[in-house]
Amino acid sequence: MKTEHFRKKLEAEKTRLESEMGTVGRPNPRVPNDWEPIPSEEGTEADQADQADVFMSREGNAAILADLEARYDTVLEALSRIEKKTYGKCEVCHALIEEARLEADPAATTCRAHL
Ligand SMILES: [Zn+2]
Repeated sequence: MKTEHFRKKLEAEKTRLESEMGTVGRPNPRVPNDWEPIPSEEGTEADQADQADVFMSREGNAAILADLEARYDTVLEALSRIEKKTYGKCEVCHALIEEARLEADPAATTCRAHL
């Protein structure tokens, strides 16, 4: 198992997700490790420059942020499995997850048989 290789991929994805979340949300000051959508009128300058995004409402940001956060949590969980030395095992049958599958999604939690 090339755990170090997958750890690097996960770390890279975590960094990318954090910067993406930063364009539609901001850390929630009331809830640690939670993010809240930026209201559209405060949107990033890049978004405001593009009038096509005029419909990018707070709801739009919230939906995008929810998707990013879900993936972010999945990536964090995968990184914590590396710490706990349980990374790369199918959570259903405990067999090793195929490396090709981890290559496609390093945060995969199940083997191909248990998609
Ligand atoms: Zn399995």
